[in-house]
Amino acid sequence: SKWVYSFGAGHNEGKAEMRNLLGGKGANLAEMASIGLPVPPGFTITTEVCTYYYDHGKQYPPELKDQVGTALKRVEEAVGARFGDDRTPLLVSVRSGARVSMPGMMDTVLNLGLNDQTVEGLTAASGDPRFAWDSYRRFIQMYGSVVLGIDHHRFEEIIEHVKLDRGVVEDTQLTAQDWHRVVDGYKEMVAEVKGEPFPQDPTAQLWGAIGAVFGSWMNPRANTYRRLHDIPADWGTAVNVQAMVFGNMGEDCATGVCFTRDPSTGENIFYGEYLINAQGEDVVAGIRTPQPMSEARAKPDERSMEKAMPDAYKELVQVRATLEKHYTDMQDIEFTVQQNKLYMLQTRNGKRTAAASLKIAVDMAREGLIDQAEAIKRVNPAALDQLLHPTLDPKAPRKLLSKGLPASPGAACGAVVFSADEAEVRAQKGESVILVRIETSPEDIHGMHAAKGILTTRGGMTSHAAVVARGMGRPCVAGAGGVTVDYGAQALQAGGQVVRAGETITLDGATGEIFIGSVPMVEPQLSGDFATLMEWADGVRRLKVRTNAETPLDADTARKFGAEGIGLCRTEHMFFDPERIGAVRQMIMSETESGRREALSRLLPFQRQDFTELFRIMAGLPVTIRLLDPPLHEFLPHGEAEIAEVATSLGADVAAMQRRAQELSEANPMLGHRGCRLGISYPEIYEMQARAIFEAAVAIAKETGKAPVPEIMIPLVATRRELEITRAQVDKVAQEVFAESGHHVEYLVGTMIELPRAALVADRIAEVGDFFSFGTNDLTQTTFGLSRDDAGKFLPLYVEKGILPKDPFVSIDPDGVGALVKIAREKGRSVKPDLKLGICGEHGGDPASIQFCEEAGLDYVSCSPYRVPVARLAAAQAAL
Ligand code: PEP
Ligand code: MG
Repeated sequence: SKWVYSFGAGHNEGKAEMRNLLGGKGANLAEMASIGLPVPPGFTITTEVCTYYYDHGKQYPPELKDQVGTALKRVEEAVGARFGDDRTPLLVSVRSGARVSMPGMMDTVLNLGLNDQTVEGLTAASGDPRFAWDSYRRFIQMYGSVVLGIDHHRFEEIIEHVKLDRGVVEDTQLTAQDWHRVVDGYKEMVAEVKGEPFPQDPTAQLWGAIGAVFGSWMNPRANTYRRLHDIPADWGTAVNVQAMVFGNMGEDCATGVCFTRDPSTGENIFYGEYLINAQGEDVVAGIRTPQPMSEARAKPDERSMEKAMPDAYKELVQVRATLEKHYTDMQDIEFTVQQNKLYMLQTRNGKRTAAASLKIAVDMAREGLIDQAEAIKRVNPAALDQLLHPTLDPKAPRKLLSKGLPASPGAACGAVVFSADEAEVRAQKGESVILVRIETSPEDIHGMHAAKGILTTRGGMTSHAAVVARGMGRPCVAGAGGVTVDYGAQALQAGGQVVRAGETITLDGATGEIFIGSVPMVEPQLSGDFATLMEWADGVRRLKVRTNAETPLDADTARKFGAEGIGLCRTEHMFFDPERIGAVRQMIMSETESGRREALSRLLPFQRQDFTELFRIMAGLPVTIRLLDPPLHEFLPHGEAEIAEVATSLGADVAAMQRRAQELSEANPMLGHRGCRLGISYPEIYEMQARAIFEAAVAIAKETGKAPVPEIMIPLVATRRELEITRAQVDKVAQEVFAESGHHVEYLVGTMIELPRAALVADRIAEVGDFFSFGTNDLTQTTFGLSRDDAGKFLPLYVEKGILPKDPFVSIDPDGVGALVKIAREKGRSVKPDLKLGICGEHGGDPASIQFCEEAGLDYVSCSPYRVPVARLAAAQAAL
């Protein structure tokens, strides 16, 4: 079989669609070469070799050696140089490339092919001995650390030693001879550490580097990254071997990383950074300050590529247009200019912020690069969350500490921590932390994930911290050069001010500003593009989107986000208000019906007021109100003071109240005296709630001339009879209120389907109910026999071990819980073909679950206010 695919110099065996086999980098190198872009020739060893390698005790397929040899020969011919030749040596880069990019997670070796002979060839070819010896020492250093596993400070010590000896400070002051000495020192050190000399045979070097790249697929940081991003280990990485081009051969050379549009804002400008006379890693490493691409973006002390290298820049602008047209998406590209000639080293769909993703999708649809349906698909619904979250209140007072680069937008506030591990530990305790590092490396990703925001003092907009933070949606300020970090003292300092570990700072990732203390935040202002995309989404979705809300504030927010009604109002939340809890306790602790009725009569006006406000905000839209659900247990008074208070209000003695509290406490309240069971044992509770609902509805109908449509929902129904009894109570109250007020409003009485039995007998239940709303929180709990409140102790382990693919409380379990939903739909609609079906568990705001709801033919989903836009977009994607 075929394990190696060539690209470049007119021989392209791969293409963009082959990313699973060739990895993203390899597939796109072949694609770029085949659309005529200047790509140095090379070849890709497939991801299947990686899988084979791990399946066969780290052995390669037997045909691999020959295939690599043939592909290498082709590169030699194309370049006119030979591997190991001492006059015109071929040098190659060896890089990893998985299906999806894993920035900085795996290993790279550059300048491979250099040895004591070929370094002379490189000197002759470049006419620059300093360059040649610097390249050789870079190679030994990279190969030594990546392939041979030698600690990098061993190399740095040797450079320091030579510098000290020569009395110079900067690397740039070292001569060819000095680098030659460094190389000698390196070789000696390697031989001492490894017990054998540094490999001089380029073929041995090549296989060493290939092995290291495959080996890096399983290194701990790559494993962590895969776990965080749901990337299966068996995808494997490809290895790309490519002829070297040099951005560090002189002043007519450069290297750069850029985006075809601004990855922070989405603005349609050429965006990026480059460095003259530098090699790729220098841009990312942040040692020298990269310069901007376009003159329009250059500050007075900066030198844009447009100005410094006009010809190469012009060519790059052409390439940018070609790539966007070809890929119809924003690209993240790497290039090198060698002696004024442009080479493309990579292209891929660029990572971007949620705001940029939205703007780019809408702009590209308007520009005609993609259609509206494609624009809808381009935006990750979950990422919209980022846009909906607060930013700093512009009017709030603040104390500026310093400023860095606006690397990833959003505001964050938290306690300063200086290590990723510390960030993780404190975040697990529920603390908000800001991770502060001189720079971040792939080893820090767990801490970046745990932190609310990230601050670095070194590195540019394409530094590790910036790229990773944007991908994760974490606010990030990078390259804050005015801040000095002292890990030892656990403190940072800027402009004479000191902030110690544990003290609070606030970051504004959109401006790059850092503030002392916490700065108040405000709700986001959504851009016109947001409304446009939502409008397009609304045009294609079938599912309606409602919200779960009980307070006017939540209902209002949800309306602004486009909610089409309330799908779940949990009335018990209205009972915990300090003004009301006394009456609630009095109600449940009372041993007589008359006592309960008296307490309920005190609650009635409050409930009526609650519902009136919700009906007013929802102006004619459906409002689903669930009657009391939780076990009374949850409202019991605690401690002597609270018991005494209830005793006084009821005129009972404390001992009797203690006995009553004992009586009411339950061993397993989640499966206990709750839901419709309450309505059946204490009908007066549901009567009061029904009265409050109908009186509010009548009041609003009179006030606005527009009657709301209350949908009264009975929780935790398991049998037809339960719904029949509770529904009769509600209907009776409705008739009373309509008679008293002389006003009639439409209403529905339905049930939640949140017990497996209810799903299985849904046909019987549908005979007495007007709608079903799937309470998938309880339905998941009862289907799995898995406590909602205790699952945290072992569920993460289940997910980690792959026993469950995802947390079933987050994303619906399609095989079990989903099957019950479908059974209930079938049975319910067999009795009432138009039976209205919705979902109001947490799953209603989860994109994967919304996809399920679309397929299951539900009418609407209901979710928390901030997830309404997420759900609108996910519903549109599900319909496409
Ligand atoms: C449910 O069980 O899915 C539901 C929405 O109700 P609650 O979360 O209030 O039990
Ligand atoms: Mg429930």
